[in-house]
Amino acid sequence: MSVSEILSRKGRAIITVPIDASIKDVVHELAEHNIGAIVVVSANMEVCGIVSERDIVRQLRDSGAAALENPLSSCMTSNVVSCDEDETIDDVLAKMTEGRFRHLPVIVDGELRGLISIGDVVKRKIEQAERDAADMKRYITG
Ligand code: AMP
Repeated sequence: MSVSEILSRKGRAIITVPIDASIKDVVHELAEHNIGAIVVVSANMEVCGIVSERDIVRQLRDSGAAALENPLSSCMTSNVVSCDEDETIDDVLAKMTEGRFRHLPVIVDGELRGLISIGDVVKRKIEQAERDAADMKRYITG
């Protein structure tokens, strides 16, 4: 299964936050949309980073509640690893495993097209395993 197929099934809506937002704004968006990471964009919608709940927990440990007023740029990851729509679910899983993160923005020609989470990958992998098992059962039982 390709990234393009995953996005067609889960939808392409993507939550972003502007680079000049505060950590408090990010906390609000994460809670509001029930998500674990958010893509940071510039005024012209170029991806400039990603912030996950882990980054915020680390900031809170280091600076306490005052960290909520800090700009999100103080805790985001700027070096964003992304994928394109032609990559497979296994390519995505390999990138997440290698980078030790659970979110992968889909970027094509500099344009943000969606976001794949580890939850999306696991869901599709389970579906695939169930399909394979059913095919095998049909083959064996005729
Ligand atoms: P996560 O496991 O996705 O919650 O993120 C763990 C760490 O990896 C955090 O520091 C994130 O900022 C960072 N991170 C998450 N996704 C990506 C990504 N696609 N590229 C680079 N860093 C990422």
